[in-house]
Amino acid sequence: MPSTPFERENKRSLPDSRTIGNYLATLDTLSPRARLVTLGTSAGGRPIQALLLSASPSFLQDLVGEPDKPTVMMLGSQHGNEPSGAEALQRLARELAAGEHPELMHRLNLVLVVLANPDGRDLSSRHNANDDNTNIDYVALQAGETRLLVEALHRFDPDLVFDAHESGIWKRVLTRELGWMTDVEAQFDMGNNPNIDGALRHYTESKLLPALIARVSAAGLAARRYRGEITSLDQAVSRGGLGITNLRNYAAMQGRVSILVENRLDNKSGRYATPRNIAERVRKQHLSMLTMLQLVADEAGSLLAVSRRARQRWVSADGDGRTLWMGVSFGANREQPEITLPLVRFADGHKVLRRFRNRDAIVTRKPVSLAAAYAVTRERERMARWLTSHHIAFETVTEPRELMADRLEITAVRMQPEARPGVRGKMLAEVMVTRSAVTLQRGDLLVPMDQRLAPLAALMLDPRSANALYQEEGWNWLQPGAFPVFPVVED
Ligand SMILES: [Zn+2]
Repeated sequence: MPSTPFERENKRSLPDSRTIGNYLATLDTLSPRARLVTLGTSAGGRPIQALLLSASPSFLQDLVGEPDKPTVMMLGSQHGNEPSGAEALQRLARELAAGEHPELMHRLNLVLVVLANPDGRDLSSRHNANDDNTNIDYVALQAGETRLLVEALHRFDPDLVFDAHESGIWKRVLTRELGWMTDVEAQFDMGNNPNIDGALRHYTESKLLPALIARVSAAGLAARRYRGEITSLDQAVSRGGLGITNLRNYAAMQGRVSILVENRLDNKSGRYATPRNIAERVRKQHLSMLTMLQLVADEAGSLLAVSRRARQRWVSADGDGRTLWMGVSFGANREQPEITLPLVRFADGHKVLRRFRNRDAIVTRKPVSLAAAYAVTRERERMARWLTSHHIAFETVTEPRELMADRLEITAVRMQPEARPGVRGKMLAEVMVTRSAVTLQRGDLLVPMDQRLAPLAALMLDPRSANALYQEEGWNWLQPGAFPVFPVVED
């Protein structure tokens, strides 16, 4: 197989999106085990593609997963200013198409979204050509890029989603004012929202993620669980965000194992063999990806069992199996109030371990039990389109119908503090719940909660949820009074 465009440039400069697309088309032409599929077009008119790699002709032809092989979807460079992911995925694709790592091709079906944000690559921007941060758009689905990636999740139905990012270690306060940088190479996180299927979340947290961190460390790359952005010396630390607005938690709420890597994005002023250490960064990201795939191939049996069961029937981690925590945030960890993190002094490279307050305990407000359905009585056509984009099934009421419901009355709306690491809810609605009979009118929507995506739908539809749709721009419905979307108790 020919070298990747990045390798042809001696790993010194980054190819544009068109060059990457041409390279993927070459792999499709040269390898019977590769197939290039177009998922759609970016805001700036650039194609977004997935390269499928598999030893199974049926997977490549029909795009349908197989009973005994995990389907793994990997995304590179969703943030355009984090280029290593796309380059590492091209290298991985070249190796697999050339017959390297044969055990992976026999045990896995791969969907590589090599360049998830082509606008960002060509415009040297974190966001797309519309300045949308697609990375936090998974509830609102405002950007075309997010919608087409959600379509891809449904089309390929991956058992595992791997999202590759890079984290800058140079920070304005921590580095420029205080003279320190964090000193980590690879950080991994997972779908960590407490509403994820209990067995799936437990398997990922207690088995897969520790094994991945151990293997990557053993391969020579210091790895650990993600600790969030470190921007000053006196801050508290938590984990990656709990919100389902990001791909990691959104995919996990659909019943998929979901892993994030944040590799080190070296600072601009260092001296490296290649510009901003790009060759080394791609090597680290490739090592993280390859190690993950080897682990998933070894774990195929248990991973398949837990992820496919979660997609058939969600069971909450606690309570009666239908328990949802609408409000979630991070709080102080009383069992482990402090942790130490490695820092390196910017001026001379001196390394220290520094103590930080540990706020990685997940705090939940009072839980609710998953209702029989949700009724939607406002902007019904727009809501119908939005539900359809999420593949959430609903019924349109054709004649007036009386149902027992939990009417939700918003009594107050409080703005939340600006900076709360890991949480995106901007407003907190205080809600009074009253059980009563209601009459739905013709054209109202009923979203049944006995469907696969029910818990995801409830967390987005219920105004009590920290991740409700109404927290998003353009959906400013949180105002005192009777709320137009509410749980139905029985039909
Ligand atoms: Zn990122």
